[in-house]
Parts: sequence; C-alpha cells; structure tokens
Amino acid sequence: MELKIENSRINEWRGYKGRPFLISGPCSAETEEQVMETARQLAAINEVCVYRAGIWKPRTRPNSFEGVGSEGLKWLRRVKQETGLLVGTEVANEKHVYEALKYGIDLLWIGARTSVNPFTVQEISDALNGVDVMVLVKNPINPDIELWTGAIERIARAGITRIGAIHRGFSSYEKTLYRNQPNWQLPIELRRRFPDLPMICDPSHISGSRLYLHEIAQKAMDLNFDGLMLESHIDPANALSDAAQQVTPNDLKELLSRLIMRSPSTSDPRLLDVLGELRQQIDVYDDTLLDLMEKRMTVAETIGHYKKENNITILQSTRWDEIIKKVKARGLAKGLSAEMIDAIFKAIHQESINHQMRVMNNGVETTESRK
Ligand code: PEP
Ligand code: MN
Repeated sequence: MELKIENSRINEWRGYKGRPFLISGPCSAETEEQVMETARQLAAINEVCVYRAGIWKPRTRPNSFEGVGSEGLKWLRRVKQETGLLVGTEVANEKHVYEALKYGIDLLWIGARTSVNPFTVQEISDALNGVDVMVLVKNPINPDIELWTGAIERIARAGITRIGAIHRGFSSYEKTLYRNQPNWQLPIELRRRFPDLPMICDPSHISGSRLYLHEIAQKAMDLNFDGLMLESHIDPANALSDAAQQVTPNDLKELLSRLIMRSPSTSDPRLLDVLGELRQQIDVYDDTLLDLMEKRMTVAETIGHYKKENNITILQSTRWDEIIKKVKARGLAKGLSAEMIDAIFKAIHQESINHQMRVMNNGVETTESRK
C-alpha cells in the first residue's frame, strides 16, 4: 500500500524563486576560500535558490578525496550568513543529519548510494523525525522505481513535509555517452505515482561532462521538472571531485540564459483543440502498435509449434543478427535513433522468445487460448 505524501507544493518552499528551483554549488566543499568565492559568484545569479556543497563524499575507490567533514559545515553557515542563500548538503547516516542540523543546513539530500539501502534510509528518517528541513531523495544507482519510492515514503513517515526527488540517472555496465543513463521513464513513473512531489533533475551527474548539461537540463524542463541541481566550481578543472562535469558560475549563467521554458499547460482554446487532435492521433498510433505486436506474437507462436515438432532450439542467433541489422538500417533511414530501435527490438525479441517458450513447454497455449 502506497503512502500518501502530505507534501507542500514547491512554490511554497522557502527559497523558491520560480521554475526551475535551482540548486547549485560545488560537488565538494574543498577550502573555505573556494566555498565562499563560488557562493559569492552564484549569489549574483538571480535564479540560484540553494547553495549546495558535498561535505562527506561517497567515493567509489578509497584514497580519493572523501570530503572535508564537519569543518565544511561552518563554511556553509558562513555562506548563508553572508550571501543569504539557503544551503544544502548530502547526508548518508544519522550522524551527518545531526551535524548538518546543528549548523542550520536548510536542505539535506540523500545520495544515490544511500537510497539503495533501506536500513540507512530508515536510520536517516528516524534522525529526521519532527524536524523542519527540506529533504530531497536522489534515485538509487540502479533503475529500481520501488526502491526510490520506498526511500521517499520512509522520509515522508518522519513527518517531513518538504520532500522532493532528484533524478541523477542510473548506472549501467555498458559505456554510454552519459555517465549515468537518464531512463526518463522512471522519473515519469515517479511523477505518476506522486503527482505533487517536486522533481529536480541533476544534469551534472547524468552527464558526467560539461558537454551535455544544457541538453539534459532542457529536456528536464520540457518534461516539466520543477528544478535543477547543477554543480558549479570557481575552478572546475582543478576540482577535487567531478572535475569534468562542473562549470564556472559564469558558464552556469550562460547555460541558464539558453534554457527555453515552456508552459506545462495553456488556456488558449485554439491551441488546446490542436493539441487534443494531435494527442488523439498519438492514441491511435499506440493502439496500432499494440495490434501489430499481438499479430507478431501470434506468428512467433506458430513458429514455436514448428520448432517444437522438429526439435529445433528457440534461439537462432544468426536470424536475430539479421533482423536487428535490417531494422536498424530501416529505422535510421526513417530518422529513428539506433538506441531506440535497439531497445524496442530487443524487448520484442524477448517477448517472442517468451511466447515460444510457453508454446514449447505447454504445447497448446497460443494467443487465442489465453484470451
Ligand atoms: C553529489 O551530488 O555530489 C553526489 C555524490 O551525487 P550522487 O549521489 O547522485 O552520485
Ligand atoms: Mn558530484
């Protein structure tokens, strides 16, 4: 049973200045000077609502910079006093929560390596009981919507009423363009589950490089995300963590100026008419796709019968190689991306195998008999 989240709307949150609710600052607090100078430059950018800096850094390998620890919280307190920006940091255990609260940190986020662990999230939730602070839950490293949902529910149970989610992409074994795969369907599903939950996108950790920050931020805005978390450092190339993905405050400003903000809805009746009609067309195409898929599976099952009768294995990889090559070439010629074709046809192929398996194991089951 899903918990109903009694959340306040993001436009009622302290520090909110409009969409996007912008959180920016260095990946890590390194020195007092670096923290203060970055903060001064970011405070001069109107859109920045919250200043972020990692104090305790979860690092994949030991001997990397693991953060300055509690000392850095004093610097964040100074940022708040001197610039008026709200301040936020990552917490990964109850000690971090107590320390951060002691220094008046306004926003805490739970990192991707923490939200995978229900024990730790529960420990943090217990430490937050009855506290008035903003809490953002990053998606777990692996694309598991239930784990993300569960972490949000645990925080909600502590009575926190300003909860949001941060989409920072998902780890994958394959090397891809981005550091973390966006898998946009997951944050979209989270929004379906919790329509009022503020959603922040973190293009820095999705991208892993300065190169793609803008395109990811733009996509998030087009998908109606409420906010952005973008890492910014006065000297990105020499940053002690995530050097490749941080931008100077000046470059951040330039990036923001190129973001196009589209309205999530419109009251213009003519535009509504046109959109309504186009959406109907989309629905028709979706139905057509499903009908075609059903037909394709029926053929696959028929093949399954032949294979069963003649003792042939289900998977014949040369045939599959041919199919994928052919559909990729055709799809590309139609302006479809190779990634999409690959993903869709892998899924279709797997579904065909499942249908054939059923035929071969039971002998009788067909699409007809399951209706
Ligand atoms: C971070 O925000 O610096 C961080 C460590 O992020 P994530 O948990 O998304 O890897
Ligand atoms: Mn980082």
